[in-house]
Amino acid sequence: MKLKLIGLIAGVALAAGSSAFAQAFPTKTITMVVPFSAGGPTDTVARLIAQSMGTDLGQQIIVENVGGAGGTIGAARVAKADPDGYTVLLHHIGMSTAPALYRKLSYNPVTDFEPVGLVTDVPMTFIARSDFPAKNFSELVTYIKANKSKVTYANAGLGAASHLCGMLFMSALDTTMTTVPYKGTGPAMNDMLGKQVDVMCDQTTNTTSQIKAGKVKVYAVTTSTRVPSLPDVPTAKEAGLPNFEVAVWHGVYAPKGTPKPVVDRLAKALQVALADANVKTRFAELGTEPVSADRATPQALGTHLKAEIAKWAPVIKAAGTFAD
Ligand code: ASP
Repeated sequence: MKLKLIGLIAGVALAAGSSAFAQAFPTKTITMVVPFSAGGPTDTVARLIAQSMGTDLGQQIIVENVGGAGGTIGAARVAKADPDGYTVLLHHIGMSTAPALYRKLSYNPVTDFEPVGLVTDVPMTFIARSDFPAKNFSELVTYIKANKSKVTYANAGLGAASHLCGMLFMSALDTTMTTVPYKGTGPAMNDMLGKQVDVMCDQTTNTTSQIKAGKVKVYAVTTSTRVPSLPDVPTAKEAGLPNFEVAVWHGVYAPKGTPKPVVDRLAKALQVALADANVKTRFAELGTEPVSADRATPQALGTHLKAEIAKWAPVIKAAGTFAD
């Protein structure tokens, strides 16, 4: 009886301690891990929201780029971080495709993380170096089919959105290209501007300014409707690939076991950031928009993640691309 009482008191003290911790959160700088290189599209999204979330939280959020292996190295880092809210992950659709792509993944996207909330859905664009011979989407298809592995396709590694888009594209055309993997599409874009790589499918958050400056050729967007900031660019469907549609959703995650009040506080800061007029304007310039507040929640991201894992597993299995 006495032991039980001590246990009860200890339990109450622990709960009170963790709720006091949660109430005080945050008392120091937070690290937001981006699992791709600096200067790329995921990094751009992270830096846009990190500043505004930090203002709401009263603490700075520092973005740390941990690129490599299609985003899985950075995700693994956060899965193993202390579950205290001071290390979070900003990752994209790759969180849902990695389990089907990697035979040995050192983390489970569902059971090793606490979802915080969805951030944005970003369209992708098919682009090529400025002197690439194809003038439109149908010429691009003809050229790739004729030249196959002589054409180089840049991506950010197996599990990246650029990998997914390329894989779907090659499978739709029933052809192949030579894949050139980078730690992120930021450095891939640098090589494309230097004309060292031919083709890429990447997010508007990385490609819009280069398209507008005429520094790369653009052939199509991957969403079902045209992107307002690129009104002259046809959708892949309009350009001749009827079932081709992919948008890159992004979410924020904390390590499993992060106290719920801390996760909720992070989610509130995310919702504030996504309602910020500057963030909205910048997102619009980059061809996207923040999700509505009801999607920037732990529950919405948790549900979405599970649905996307179920959606992509059979597609990836059919395409037959795997890594150890
Ligand atoms: N988001 C890019 C991709 O998945 C990588 C990056 O952000 O650099 O291809």
